[in-house]
Amino acid sequence: MARRKMIYEGKAKIIYEGPDANTVVQYFKDDATAFNAEKKDVIAGKGVLNNRISAHLMTKLESIGIPTHFIRSINMREQLVRKVEIIPLEVVVRNVAAGSLCKRLGLEEGNILHRPIVEYYYKKDELGDPMVSDEHIMAFGWADPYELEEMVSMAWRINDYLNGLFSGIGLRLIDFKLEFGRIYGEHGELYIVLADEISPDNCRLWDAKTGEKLDKDRFRFDLGDLVEGYQYIAEKLGLVPEGGIVKGGSVNEKLVENLELIENELSKVRQLRDVKPNKPRKA
Ligand code: C5P
Repeated sequence: MARRKMIYEGKAKIIYEGPDANTVVQYFKDDATAFNAEKKDVIAGKGVLNNRISAHLMTKLESIGIPTHFIRSINMREQLVRKVEIIPLEVVVRNVAAGSLCKRLGLEEGNILHRPIVEYYYKKDELGDPMVSDEHIMAFGWADPYELEEMVSMAWRINDYLNGLFSGIGLRLIDFKLEFGRIYGEHGELYIVLADEISPDNCRLWDAKTGEKLDKDRFRFDLGDLVEGYQYIAEKLGLVPEGGIVKGGSVNEKLVENLELIENELSKVRQLRDVKPNKPRKA
């Protein structure tokens, strides 16, 4: 079989050419990195769990009208997604003080914010993904006002929905990071869709009763076994059987093969919304 062409390799994922021009295959690696890849490891099972969790959450979001790039899972590590032009911004939503917010402003971790906060970071590894304002975004043309408005309104809806979903299974959604992409229609329409992944790699999730951290902070700050935390989240979401799919550092492939693949039926019938109908477009 001919080898697939790799389009891009990131820290946690590889993007391959898809079966047609409008799709790509997203492969979830077991690599874990933190602090702009200063800390690195390979953790068996991480890719499988993130693939499953992200596919599930994207499908759930699609069901409330958030357009996403996710089409269907292909196997335990890969999913078919729409090809998008990634907007070079990380949109972070925070409900509870944690991470860089505490560091930057000297806040105590765990304080519930009076209102959720949305922040923007410029995606640029060489610069350590600096925080930017909407002024920077406009001035440097990373997104225009219509696109930004669309991303922020989706981010609020996603926050409301995911807060409910996680609180229903005994978890607290502290903060998370989103990425968005552009799809161009045949007649010059521009659509913005949720891209990348939503997984414990880019969400902070704490156990509501015990406060235990279940996300990538386990790896960042050596708080415990990373896969144990991710498996717990996947179990609570009903995505893996009790006891999990990773034991003693290896994935039980037989068990994984029998798990149902996640399909996003909704993405096939979804009507995308042009973000700038009748608005002048940049050349
Ligand atoms: O580090 P910080 O507190 O700014 O992170 C906020 C949220 O965004 C966390 O959930 C973290 O996992 C996520 N994040 C990410 N990728 C980055 C930076 C932050 O997924 N490059």
